[in-house]
Amino acid sequence: MDYEYEAVIGLETHVQLKTKSKMWCGCVNQFGALPNTNVCPVCLGMPGVLPVANEEALRLTVLTGFLLNCSVPNYAKFDRKNYFYPDAPKNYQITQYDKPSTMNGYVEFEMEGRIEKVRITRAHLEEDVGKNFHFERNSGVDFNRAGVPLLEIVSEPDIRNSDMAYTYLNALKDILIYGGVSDCDMEKGMVRCDVNVSVRPKGQKELGAKIEIKNMNSFSGVRRALDYEIPRQIEELKRGNKLRQETRRWDDEGGITESMRSKEMAHDYRYFPEPDLMPFVPDEKWLAEVKLRIVELPLARKQRFTRKYQLPSSDAQTFIDDVPLGDYFERVTAESNNPKAVANWVINNLRAKLTESGTTLREVKFNTKAIPELISLVDSGKISTRIAQDVFADMFATGDSPGQIVEKKGLVQLSDTGSIEKFCDEAIAANPRSVEDYKAGKVAALNFLKGQVMKLSKGKANPNIVGEILERKLKS
Ligand SMILES: [Zn+2]
Repeated sequence: MDYEYEAVIGLETHVQLKTKSKMWCGCVNQFGALPNTNVCPVCLGMPGVLPVANEEALRLTVLTGFLLNCSVPNYAKFDRKNYFYPDAPKNYQITQYDKPSTMNGYVEFEMEGRIEKVRITRAHLEEDVGKNFHFERNSGVDFNRAGVPLLEIVSEPDIRNSDMAYTYLNALKDILIYGGVSDCDMEKGMVRCDVNVSVRPKGQKELGAKIEIKNMNSFSGVRRALDYEIPRQIEELKRGNKLRQETRRWDDEGGITESMRSKEMAHDYRYFPEPDLMPFVPDEKWLAEVKLRIVELPLARKQRFTRKYQLPSSDAQTFIDDVPLGDYFERVTAESNNPKAVANWVINNLRAKLTESGTTLREVKFNTKAIPELISLVDSGKISTRIAQDVFADMFATGDSPGQIVEKKGLVQLSDTGSIEKFCDEAIAANPRSVEDYKAGKVAALNFLKGQVMKLSKGKANPNIVGEILERKLKS
Protein backbone atom coordinates (compact mmCIF):
# COMPACT_ATOMS: atom_id res chain seq x y z
CA MET A 1 0.00 0.00 0.00
CA ASP A 2 1.37 3.43 -0.89
CA TYR A 3 0.67 6.00 1.78
CA GLU A 4 1.25 9.69 1.78
CA TYR A 5 3.36 10.52 4.81
CA GLU A 6 3.60 13.53 7.06
CA ALA A 7 6.24 14.59 9.56
CA VAL A 8 5.53 15.49 13.18
CA ILE A 9 8.16 17.72 14.72
CA GLY A 10 8.68 19.11 18.21
CA LEU A 11 11.61 21.24 19.32
CA GLU A 12 13.40 21.64 22.61
CA THR A 13 15.26 24.92 22.52
CA HIS A 14 17.91 25.80 25.08
CA VAL A 15 18.55 29.49 25.52
CA GLN A 16 21.15 31.14 27.76
CA LEU A 17 19.59 33.90 29.82
CA LYS A 18 20.99 37.41 29.76
CA THR A 19 22.11 37.76 33.36
CA LYS A 20 25.25 39.35 34.77
CA SER A 21 26.08 36.35 36.96
CA LYS A 22 25.55 32.61 36.84
CA MET A 23 22.52 30.72 38.10
CA TRP A 24 23.67 29.58 41.55
CA CYS A 25 26.80 31.62 42.28
CA GLY A 26 28.27 35.09 41.74
CA CYS A 27 30.58 34.13 38.85
CA VAL A 28 30.32 36.28 35.76
CA ASN A 29 28.07 35.00 32.96
CA GLN A 30 30.35 35.92 30.10
CA PHE A 31 31.36 34.33 26.82
CA GLY A 32 34.93 34.24 25.60
CA ALA A 33 36.91 34.52 28.85
CA LEU A 34 40.07 32.45 29.32
CA PRO A 35 39.12 28.85 30.19
CA ASN A 36 38.26 28.21 33.84
CA THR A 37 38.58 31.83 34.96
CA ASN A 38 34.87 32.43 35.69
CA VAL A 39 34.55 29.61 38.21
CA CYS A 40 34.13 29.10 41.95
CA PRO A 41 33.50 26.15 44.30
CA VAL A 42 29.74 26.35 43.61
CA CYS A 43 29.85 26.07 39.82
CA LEU A 44 32.72 23.59 40.06
CA GLY A 45 30.46 21.36 42.15
CA MET A 46 32.73 21.12 45.19
CA PRO A 47 31.33 19.15 48.12
CA GLY A 48 29.39 21.10 50.71
CA VAL A 49 28.64 24.22 48.72
CA LEU A 50 25.12 25.62 48.49
CA PRO A 51 23.39 27.13 45.46
CA VAL A 52 21.65 30.51 45.73
CA ALA A 53 19.10 31.16 42.96
CA ASN A 54 19.78 34.11 40.69
CA GLU A 55 16.73 36.37 41.07
CA GLU A 56 17.09 37.96 37.63
CA ALA A 57 17.14 34.51 36.00
CA LEU A 58 13.86 33.73 37.75
CA ARG A 59 12.41 37.02 36.52
CA LEU A 60 13.55 36.36 32.95
CA THR A 61 12.06 32.87 33.08
CA VAL A 62 8.67 34.16 34.17
CA LEU A 63 8.89 37.04 31.69
CA THR A 64 9.50 34.47 28.94
CA GLY A 65 6.41 32.65 30.15
CA PHE A 66 4.36 35.82 29.70
CA LEU A 67 5.87 36.53 26.28
CA LEU A 68 5.06 32.97 25.16
CA ASN A 69 1.47 33.20 26.44
CA CYS A 70 2.16 30.60 29.13
CA SER A 71 0.51 30.20 32.47
CA VAL A 72 2.80 30.86 35.42
CA PRO A 73 1.96 28.52 38.31
CA ASN A 74 2.31 30.00 41.79
CA TYR A 75 4.38 27.00 42.83
CA ALA A 76 7.47 25.72 41.01
CA LYS A 77 10.43 23.74 42.24
CA PHE A 78 13.89 22.58 41.29
CA ASP A 79 15.02 19.00 40.81
CA ARG A 80 18.25 17.14 40.35
CA LYS A 81 18.78 15.33 37.09
CA ASN A 82 21.52 12.84 37.79
CA TYR A 83 24.09 11.81 35.24
CA PHE A 84 27.81 11.60 34.93
CA TYR A 85 29.50 13.50 32.16
CA PRO A 86 32.89 15.25 32.31
CA ASP A 87 31.43 18.69 31.59
CA ALA A 88 28.90 18.45 34.47
CA PRO A 89 31.06 18.85 37.58
CA LYS A 90 28.29 18.17 40.12
CA ASN A 91 27.32 14.90 38.40
CA TYR A 92 23.81 16.26 38.32
CA GLN A 93 22.09 19.20 36.73
CA ILE A 94 19.64 21.37 38.63
CA THR A 95 16.52 21.70 36.51
CA GLN A 96 12.74 21.82 36.88
CA TYR A 97 11.11 18.45 36.39
CA ASP A 98 7.43 18.09 37.29
CA LYS A 99 6.77 21.64 38.52
CA PRO A 100 8.18 24.04 35.94
CA SER A 101 7.94 27.82 36.23
CA THR A 102 5.87 28.27 33.07
CA MET A 103 3.64 26.03 30.94
CA ASN A 104 0.91 25.76 28.28
CA GLY A 105 1.66 28.68 25.98
CA TYR A 106 2.07 29.30 22.29
CA VAL A 107 4.08 31.22 19.72
CA GLU A 108 2.46 32.85 16.71
CA PHE A 109 4.41 33.81 13.62
CA GLU A 110 3.97 34.76 10.01
CA MET A 111 4.78 32.21 7.34
CA GLU A 112 4.00 32.51 3.64
CA GLY A 113 1.45 35.21 4.42
CA ARG A 114 -0.39 33.09 7.01
CA ILE A 115 -0.27 33.20 10.80
CA GLU A 116 0.99 29.89 12.17
CA LYS A 117 0.83 28.82 15.78
CA VAL A 118 3.05 26.39 17.67
CA ARG A 119 2.02 25.46 21.20
CA ILE A 120 4.58 25.61 23.98
CA THR A 121 4.47 22.76 26.49
CA ARG A 122 6.69 24.46 29.02
CA ALA A 123 9.67 26.72 29.52
CA HIS A 124 11.71 25.72 32.52
CA LEU A 125 14.85 26.97 34.17
CA GLU A 126 18.03 24.93 34.48
CA GLU A 127 21.77 25.39 34.27
CA ASP A 128 24.24 25.03 31.47
CA VAL A 129 27.19 22.64 31.61
CA GLY A 130 30.86 23.21 30.83
CA LYS A 131 32.43 22.64 27.46
CA ASN A 132 34.74 19.83 26.42
CA PHE A 133 37.70 20.47 24.16
CA HIS A 134 39.53 17.68 22.43
CA PHE A 135 43.15 18.26 21.47
CA GLU A 136 45.56 16.07 19.62
CA ARG A 137 46.71 14.05 22.60
CA ASN A 138 44.36 14.99 25.40
CA SER A 139 41.10 16.66 26.29
CA GLY A 140 40.16 19.55 28.53
CA VAL A 141 37.04 20.99 30.08
CA ASP A 142 36.24 24.68 30.37
CA PHE A 143 33.81 25.24 33.25
CA ASN A 144 33.16 28.93 32.50
CA ARG A 145 29.82 27.94 31.01
CA ALA A 146 28.91 25.57 33.86
CA GLY A 147 26.07 27.07 35.87
CA VAL A 148 25.05 29.69 33.31
CA PRO A 149 21.24 30.05 33.53
CA LEU A 150 19.58 28.15 30.75
CA LEU A 151 15.96 28.15 29.72
CA GLU A 152 14.59 25.04 28.03
CA ILE A 153 11.60 25.85 25.85
CA VAL A 154 9.71 22.74 24.82
CA SER A 155 7.24 22.91 21.95
CA GLU A 156 4.31 20.63 21.28
CA PRO A 157 4.73 18.49 18.12
CA ASP A 158 2.84 21.07 16.05
CA ILE A 159 5.52 21.56 13.41
CA ARG A 160 5.04 19.81 10.07
CA ASN A 161 8.07 20.60 7.94
CA SER A 162 11.60 21.98 7.98
CA ASP A 163 10.61 25.49 6.88
CA MET A 164 8.08 25.75 9.66
CA ALA A 165 10.71 24.62 12.17
CA TYR A 166 13.10 27.24 10.86
CA THR A 167 10.50 30.02 10.93
CA TYR A 168 9.33 29.05 14.41
CA LEU A 169 12.89 29.12 15.74
CA ASN A 170 13.51 32.56 14.27
CA ALA A 171 10.23 33.88 15.66
CA LEU A 172 11.12 32.48 19.09
CA LYS A 173 14.55 34.05 18.90
CA ASP A 174 13.10 37.45 17.92
CA ILE A 175 10.67 37.31 20.85
CA LEU A 176 13.46 36.53 23.31
CA ILE A 177 15.66 39.30 21.94
CA TYR A 178 12.74 41.78 22.04
CA GLY A 179 12.02 40.83 25.63
CA GLY A 180 15.67 41.25 26.64
CA VAL A 181 15.61 37.64 27.84
CA SER A 182 18.63 36.53 25.82
CA ASP A 183 20.94 37.91 23.17
CA CYS A 184 20.42 34.61 21.31
CA ASP A 185 23.86 34.92 19.74
CA MET A 186 24.17 31.65 17.82
CA GLU A 187 27.88 32.16 17.19
CA LYS A 188 28.41 32.17 20.95
CA GLY A 189 26.30 29.06 21.43
CA MET A 190 23.55 30.92 23.30
CA VAL A 191 20.84 28.93 21.53
CA ARG A 192 20.92 25.16 21.02
CA CYS A 193 18.23 22.86 19.91
CA ASP A 194 17.12 19.22 20.17
CA VAL A 195 14.81 18.10 17.39
CA ASN A 196 12.17 15.39 17.83
CA VAL A 197 10.85 14.09 14.54
CA SER A 198 8.69 11.19 13.47
CA VAL A 199 6.68 10.40 10.38
CA ARG A 200 3.31 8.73 9.97
CA PRO A 201 0.85 8.00 7.17
CA LYS A 202 -1.30 11.10 6.62
CA GLY A 203 -4.55 10.82 8.51
CA GLN A 204 -3.15 8.46 11.15
CA LYS A 205 -3.54 9.76 14.70
CA GLU A 206 -0.92 7.60 16.35
CA LEU A 207 2.62 8.97 16.28
CA GLY A 208 5.49 7.15 14.60
CA ALA A 209 8.72 6.20 16.38
CA LYS A 210 10.27 9.36 17.82
CA ILE A 211 13.74 10.14 16.65
CA GLU A 212 15.72 12.78 18.46
CA ILE A 213 18.49 14.77 16.83
CA LYS A 214 20.65 16.23 19.58
CA ASN A 215 22.62 19.42 20.05
CA MET A 216 21.88 21.43 16.95
CA ASN A 217 23.56 24.82 17.15
CA SER A 218 22.17 26.59 14.11
CA PHE A 219 18.66 27.07 12.76
CA SER A 220 19.78 26.39 9.20
CA GLY A 221 21.33 23.17 10.52
CA VAL A 222 17.94 22.20 11.97
CA ARG A 223 16.32 22.83 8.62
CA ARG A 224 18.93 20.80 6.74
CA ALA A 225 18.81 17.97 9.26
CA LEU A 226 15.03 17.74 8.85
CA ASP A 227 15.34 17.91 5.07
CA TYR A 228 17.55 14.84 5.35
CA GLU A 229 15.83 13.01 8.18
CA ILE A 230 12.17 13.20 7.07
CA PRO A 231 12.73 11.60 3.64
CA ARG A 232 15.04 9.04 5.28
CA GLN A 233 12.31 7.90 7.66
CA ILE A 234 9.67 7.85 4.93
CA GLU A 235 11.98 5.79 2.74
CA GLU A 236 12.51 3.27 5.56
CA LEU A 237 8.76 2.89 6.06
CA LYS A 238 8.12 2.55 2.35
CA ARG A 239 10.63 -0.26 2.23
CA GLY A 240 8.56 -1.98 4.89
CA ASN A 241 11.16 -1.45 7.64
CA LYS A 242 10.21 -0.53 11.18
CA LEU A 243 11.68 2.61 12.76
CA ARG A 244 12.73 2.41 16.38
CA GLN A 245 13.02 5.20 18.88
CA GLU A 246 16.58 6.47 18.93
CA THR A 247 18.88 9.44 19.28
CA ARG A 248 20.78 10.59 16.24
CA ARG A 249 23.57 13.03 15.62
CA TRP A 250 23.66 15.57 12.79
CA ASP A 251 26.85 15.57 10.74
CA ASP A 252 26.86 19.09 9.35
CA GLU A 253 29.67 18.53 6.88
CA GLY A 254 28.37 15.25 5.57
CA GLY A 255 24.79 16.53 5.58
CA ILE A 256 23.47 13.33 7.19
CA THR A 257 22.18 12.11 10.54
CA GLU A 258 23.64 9.01 12.15
CA SER A 259 22.54 6.82 15.01
CA MET A 260 23.99 7.56 18.47
CA ARG A 261 21.98 5.36 20.78
CA SER A 262 18.69 3.51 20.88
CA LYS A 263 15.96 3.82 23.48
CA GLU A 264 17.32 0.84 25.43
CA MET A 265 20.46 2.87 26.06
CA ALA A 266 18.55 5.94 27.27
CA HIS A 267 19.52 7.50 30.60
CA ASP A 268 17.58 6.99 33.77
CA TYR A 269 18.11 10.36 35.39
CA ARG A 270 16.69 9.48 38.81
CA TYR A 271 15.11 12.90 39.26
CA PHE A 272 14.46 14.00 42.83
CA PRO A 273 13.66 17.39 44.40
CA GLU A 274 16.75 19.56 44.91
CA PRO A 275 17.20 19.56 48.68
CA ASP A 276 19.33 22.72 48.74
CA LEU A 277 16.75 25.03 47.17
CA MET A 278 13.38 26.26 48.35
CA PRO A 279 10.44 25.88 45.98
CA PHE A 280 9.82 28.98 43.92
CA VAL A 281 6.59 30.63 45.02
CA PRO A 282 6.24 34.04 43.36
CA ASP A 283 3.81 36.46 45.01
CA GLU A 284 1.54 38.95 43.26
CA LYS A 285 3.83 41.93 43.80
CA TRP A 286 6.80 40.08 42.34
CA LEU A 287 4.78 38.94 39.34
CA ALA A 288 3.43 42.47 38.80
CA GLU A 289 6.98 43.78 38.61
CA VAL A 290 7.87 41.21 35.99
CA LYS A 291 4.72 42.07 34.04
CA LEU A 292 5.96 45.64 33.72
CA ARG A 293 8.73 44.25 31.53
CA ILE A 294 6.39 42.69 28.96
CA VAL A 295 7.06 44.21 25.55
CA GLU A 296 5.12 44.32 22.31
CA LEU A 297 6.06 41.21 20.33
CA PRO A 298 7.49 41.37 16.81
CA LEU A 299 4.35 40.00 15.13
CA ALA A 300 2.05 42.39 17.01
CA ARG A 301 4.36 45.26 16.14
CA LYS A 302 4.33 44.32 12.48
CA GLN A 303 0.54 44.09 12.44
CA ARG A 304 0.30 47.47 14.17
CA PHE A 305 2.68 49.11 11.69
CA THR A 306 0.80 47.76 8.67
CA ARG A 307 -2.63 48.63 10.08
CA LYS A 308 -2.07 51.90 11.87
CA TYR A 309 0.30 53.45 9.31
CA GLN A 310 -0.85 51.54 6.23
CA LEU A 311 2.74 50.58 5.49
CA PRO A 312 3.58 47.80 3.05
CA SER A 313 4.78 44.59 4.68
CA SER A 314 8.39 45.16 3.60
CA ASP A 315 8.56 48.58 5.31
CA ALA A 316 6.95 47.19 8.44
CA GLN A 317 9.45 44.32 8.43
CA THR A 318 12.34 46.80 8.28
CA PHE A 319 10.99 48.44 11.43
CA ILE A 320 10.61 45.05 13.13
CA ASP A 321 14.17 44.06 12.33
CA ASP A 322 15.54 47.44 13.35
CA VAL A 323 13.62 48.41 16.47
CA PRO A 324 15.30 51.78 17.14
CA LEU A 325 14.65 52.81 13.52
CA GLY A 326 11.00 51.81 13.88
CA ASP A 327 10.70 53.76 17.13
CA TYR A 328 12.24 56.76 15.43
CA PHE A 329 9.79 56.41 12.54
CA GLU A 330 6.92 56.47 15.03
CA ARG A 331 8.17 59.63 16.71
CA VAL A 332 8.51 61.39 13.34
CA THR A 333 5.17 60.13 12.04
CA ALA A 334 3.46 61.64 15.06
CA GLU A 335 4.36 65.03 13.49
CA SER A 336 3.16 64.10 10.00
CA ASN A 337 0.01 63.01 8.20
CA ASN A 338 1.91 61.05 5.58
CA PRO A 339 3.36 57.92 7.23
CA LYS A 340 4.32 56.27 3.95
CA ALA A 341 6.42 59.28 2.90
CA VAL A 342 8.03 59.37 6.36
CA ALA A 343 8.84 55.65 6.04
CA ASN A 344 10.45 56.28 2.65
CA TRP A 345 12.68 59.04 3.99
CA VAL A 346 13.60 57.09 7.10
CA ILE A 347 14.32 53.82 5.30
CA ASN A 348 15.81 55.05 2.01
CA ASN A 349 17.59 58.21 3.08
CA LEU A 350 18.16 58.36 6.80
CA ARG A 351 19.24 54.74 7.16
CA ALA A 352 21.62 55.07 4.21
CA LYS A 353 23.14 58.27 5.64
CA LEU A 354 23.60 56.66 9.04
CA THR A 355 25.41 53.71 7.51
CA GLU A 356 27.48 55.92 5.25
CA SER A 357 28.58 58.22 8.08
CA GLY A 358 28.90 55.48 10.68
CA THR A 359 26.64 57.38 13.09
CA THR A 360 23.63 56.36 15.14
CA LEU A 361 20.09 57.68 15.44
CA ARG A 362 21.03 59.43 18.66
CA GLU A 363 23.47 61.59 16.75
CA VAL A 364 20.96 62.76 14.15
CA LYS A 365 21.20 66.57 14.16
CA PHE A 366 17.76 67.53 12.87
CA ASN A 367 14.67 67.20 15.04
CA THR A 368 11.57 65.04 14.48
CA LYS A 369 9.74 67.90 12.75
CA ALA A 370 12.31 68.17 9.94
CA ILE A 371 11.26 65.20 7.82
CA PRO A 372 7.53 66.12 7.96
CA GLU A 373 8.48 69.66 6.97
CA LEU A 374 10.51 68.36 4.05
CA ILE A 375 7.59 66.19 2.94
CA SER A 376 5.19 69.12 2.97
CA LEU A 377 7.64 71.25 0.98
CA VAL A 378 7.55 68.57 -1.72
CA ASP A 379 3.80 67.98 -1.47
CA SER A 380 3.02 71.68 -1.82
CA GLY A 381 5.24 71.90 -4.92
CA LYS A 382 7.64 74.33 -3.28
CA ILE A 383 10.61 72.09 -4.02
CA SER A 384 11.04 69.17 -6.39
CA THR A 385 11.70 65.62 -5.19
CA ARG A 386 15.12 65.93 -6.78
CA ILE A 387 15.97 69.06 -4.76
CA ALA A 388 14.48 67.44 -1.65
CA GLN A 389 17.30 64.89 -1.81
CA ASP A 390 19.88 67.69 -1.59
CA VAL A 391 17.95 69.38 1.19
CA PHE A 392 17.93 66.12 3.13
CA ALA A 393 21.70 65.71 2.72
CA ASP A 394 22.12 69.28 3.96
CA MET A 395 19.88 68.85 6.98
CA PHE A 396 21.64 65.61 7.87
CA ALA A 397 25.00 67.40 7.75
CA THR A 398 24.01 70.65 9.48
CA GLY A 399 20.81 70.02 11.43
CA ASP A 400 19.23 73.08 9.78
CA SER A 401 15.52 72.90 9.08
CA PRO A 402 14.42 72.19 5.49
CA GLY A 403 12.80 75.64 5.31
CA GLN A 404 16.04 77.34 6.32
CA ILE A 405 18.01 75.35 3.77
CA VAL A 406 15.61 76.09 0.93
CA GLU A 407 15.70 79.78 1.82
CA LYS A 408 19.47 79.95 2.31
CA LYS A 409 20.26 78.19 -0.96
CA GLY A 410 17.43 79.63 -3.01
CA LEU A 411 16.11 76.20 -3.89
CA VAL A 412 12.46 77.09 -4.28
CA GLN A 413 11.02 75.23 -7.21
CA LEU A 414 10.47 77.31 -10.32
CA SER A 415 6.82 77.21 -11.22
CA ASP A 416 6.52 80.47 -13.11
CA THR A 417 6.02 79.46 -16.71
CA GLY A 418 7.93 82.42 -18.14
CA SER A 419 11.36 81.34 -16.96
CA ILE A 420 10.64 77.65 -17.59
CA GLU A 421 9.68 78.49 -21.18
CA LYS A 422 13.07 80.12 -21.63
CA PHE A 423 14.88 76.98 -20.43
CA CYS A 424 12.68 74.85 -22.72
CA ASP A 425 13.52 77.01 -25.74
CA GLU A 426 17.22 76.73 -24.90
CA ALA A 427 17.02 72.92 -24.59
CA ILE A 428 15.10 72.58 -27.87
CA ALA A 429 17.55 74.79 -29.71
CA ALA A 430 20.55 72.87 -28.39
CA ASN A 431 19.21 69.40 -29.20
CA PRO A 432 17.77 69.29 -32.73
CA ARG A 433 18.34 65.51 -32.98
CA SER A 434 16.15 64.82 -29.98
CA VAL A 435 13.48 67.10 -31.36
CA GLU A 436 13.51 65.13 -34.63
CA ASP A 437 13.43 61.84 -32.75
CA TYR A 438 10.43 62.99 -30.77
CA LYS A 439 8.62 64.09 -33.89
CA ALA A 440 9.42 60.68 -35.42
CA GLY A 441 7.55 59.08 -32.52
CA LYS A 442 10.35 58.33 -30.04
CA VAL A 443 8.72 59.21 -26.74
CA ALA A 444 11.95 58.70 -24.81
CA ALA A 445 13.37 61.79 -26.49
CA LEU A 446 10.96 63.90 -24.45
CA ASN A 447 12.47 62.61 -21.22
CA PHE A 448 15.92 63.48 -22.47
CA LEU A 449 14.84 67.04 -23.22
CA LYS A 450 13.12 67.24 -19.88
CA GLY A 451 16.39 66.24 -18.24
CA GLN A 452 18.18 68.99 -20.13
CA VAL A 453 15.70 71.59 -18.90
CA MET A 454 16.10 70.34 -15.32
CA LYS A 455 19.85 70.68 -15.71
CA LEU A 456 19.58 74.21 -17.06
CA SER A 457 17.33 75.15 -14.15
CA LYS A 458 19.76 73.49 -11.71
CA GLY A 459 17.03 71.07 -10.72
CA LYS A 460 14.66 73.81 -9.67
CA ALA A 461 12.09 73.74 -12.45
CA ASN A 462 8.82 72.07 -11.62
CA PRO A 463 9.09 68.85 -13.69
CA ASN A 464 5.35 68.65 -14.39
CA ILE A 465 5.28 72.15 -15.83
CA VAL A 466 8.45 71.39 -17.83
CA GLY A 467 6.76 68.35 -19.35
CA GLU A 468 3.65 70.30 -20.30
CA ILE A 469 5.55 73.18 -21.88
CA LEU A 470 7.92 70.89 -23.81
CA GLU A 471 5.10 68.82 -25.24
CA ARG A 472 3.19 71.92 -26.28
CA LYS A 473 6.25 73.42 -27.95
CA LEU A 474 7.23 70.21 -29.75
CA LYS A 475 3.74 69.58 -31.03
CA SER A 476 3.30 73.08 -32.45
ZN1 LIG B 1 30.75 30.07 40.29
